[in-house]
Amino acid sequence: MKSLWDEKEAKQFTDDLGLRVYTSRLLGRDKTLVLHGGGNTSVKITEQNILGEQEELLYVKGSGWDLETIDRLGFSPVRMEHLLKLARLESLSDPQMVNELKTHMTLSSAPTPSVEAILHAILPYKYVDHTHANAVVTITNTENGEERIREIYGDRVVIIPYVMPGFDLARECEKIFAEQGSDQTIGVVLMNHGIFSFGEDARQSYDRMIDLVSQAEQYLESHGAWELSSPEADSSGSPLYKELARLRNELSKASGFPMVLQTKQNAQTLGFANHKNIDVISQQGPATPDHVIRTKRIPMLGRDVGGYIKEYKAYFEQHSPNAKEETAILDPVPRVILDSEYGLCTVGRSAKDAAIVCDIYEHTIEIILRATALGGFKALPAQDIFDVEYWDLEQAKLRSGGNPPVFSGEVALVTGAASGIGKVCVDSLLARGAAVIGLDISSEIEGMVDRQDYLGIVCDVTSEQAIRDAIEKGVRAFGGVDILILNAGIFPAGCRIENMDLANWQKTMQVNLDANLLLMRELYLLLKLAPHGGRVVVIGSKNVPAPGPGAGAYSASKAALNQLMRVAALEWGKDNIRINELHPNAVFDTAIWTDEVLQSRADSYGLSVDEYKKRNVMGVEITSHDVAELAAEMCGPLFAKTTAAQVPVDGGNERVI
Ligand code: ZN
Repeated sequence: MKSLWDEKEAKQFTDDLGLRVYTSRLLGRDKTLVLHGGGNTSVKITEQNILGEQEELLYVKGSGWDLETIDRLGFSPVRMEHLLKLARLESLSDPQMVNELKTHMTLSSAPTPSVEAILHAILPYKYVDHTHANAVVTITNTENGEERIREIYGDRVVIIPYVMPGFDLARECEKIFAEQGSDQTIGVVLMNHGIFSFGEDARQSYDRMIDLVSQAEQYLESHGAWELSSPEADSSGSPLYKELARLRNELSKASGFPMVLQTKQNAQTLGFANHKNIDVISQQGPATPDHVIRTKRIPMLGRDVGGYIKEYKAYFEQHSPNAKEETAILDPVPRVILDSEYGLCTVGRSAKDAAIVCDIYEHTIEIILRATALGGFKALPAQDIFDVEYWDLEQAKLRSGGNPPVFSGEVALVTGAASGIGKVCVDSLLARGAAVIGLDISSEIEGMVDRQDYLGIVCDVTSEQAIRDAIEKGVRAFGGVDILILNAGIFPAGCRIENMDLANWQKTMQVNLDANLLLMRELYLLLKLAPHGGRVVVIGSKNVPAPGPGAGAYSASKAALNQLMRVAALEWGKDNIRINELHPNAVFDTAIWTDEVLQSRADSYGLSVDEYKKRNVMGVEITSHDVAELAAEMCGPLFAKTTAAQVPVDGGNERVI
């Protein structure tokens, strides 16, 4: 493990809090130290308050902040004097503790201080750093972990047996630290949890963390428990999308909400899922309590969702004293699935959640394999894990999310998504919480949006194989397709029937009609498995009800597509798939309408560009955004009982009205 300290970078941070921000970010950059909001840091600073008095404050990481991206506002200033008094109480409940922390800050807009604030306060050093370093967690999760830690660090660290995070841990820590701490002490190891380092300046505390964790890594290396041999990848590459969509459907039904299912099939995940002792090593519990809310206590092995839930409920009843009253908060759906064929699948209420679980579990695999190589992975007893999973504070965190967006956990696929109406449809669907798969023939589709809930795939929709490959890729990323926006289309140059070239006619039919048939055919099963029912929106054209001269191929292709939409509505209604169509007209904010083209068209009508754009009954301009928003709404609850509708988006057209 390398120190990431950079003298030049560090110079940009001049004061104590600034340097606290800097080294917190350094810790956050290394995913083997902290993952997704894990870990916390603090600095003690004396400031003058509004009465002119000097006051010592603990600036401690606020909840909801990630060390990697934290800034000054991410630290909550809490009065040290009060924290030290709290530490002397016999007991303090979690809600009381949170109340005390919140009411003794000097900045009302600061975030809620970390639940470890009291622990940070009692450690008598200016800077305190806390991580869940993989190497330390690996060693503490073995049979004789404590002995090993003692062997590695001697009296440089104080060892604290496992206690649930919060007030009791702080008290325990204070007691043991008072007995065992010395001027040799540079850190604290929390069994089955993580490690603290501290120092008089930011760099010293950070460097000590790096040194301590490096020593743990070297220990693993010298005990043949560092290098992980990955067996040859046995990913057959055979399509899984139908099975994965069925599995996601079951998980979503069990949870009562649509869930995203992400599949990671590689040498490491397949190797682990096929480990000869997988039913032992994966079923002990998570590597650190910090992960339990996200990963659940144990992964599901194989595909028996019903069996997993039954066992989970039994575990819940066995460990919860008030099982009956608490069933309201029971969420028995697995978040991690290990399958000999799929590898690792992770489950979340959003694509971001599923991606976080995937990240955490990939680290967990390394921890378990290394601990196994060291002599055997041994997690906490089930009751301790249960206590964290159903901890008031964690449950409050889960509940504080507010109402999820309307398409939360759902997956949409948009064709022709790299530009024009398709591109804005991607935005409208993402804004409503859907994960989005964008298809386009242009390679711009791939990097178009940089988010975990977006996947851009280059795809020629006239190729059956390309469509199947794209679906496979999309379903491995998100688990299914619930919403389909058929937008890809071409508008050939104007041409009268007597001059029509057959190749051009056929090309238009191929893209505007045949491709949509293929997409509908291949996606039917997935739409049928959509937890909230399948929804399709066809981007039609004003040319369907009101064709124009010179647009024979285009008008005929869109009219045929319109008829296909109506047949689909008849055939698929019983499968809870609804399909509707928009007929936009004169949407000029797309790539084909350059300023020159607009000007020449306007000139030919003797109008200004502005008048030309608003040539409709209402005298309004129609934008891609107008169309995309309506397309997204057609997939939402307002249109829940509407199928085969054709809605114009044209500001009113006399020929259509
Ligand atoms: Zn921790």
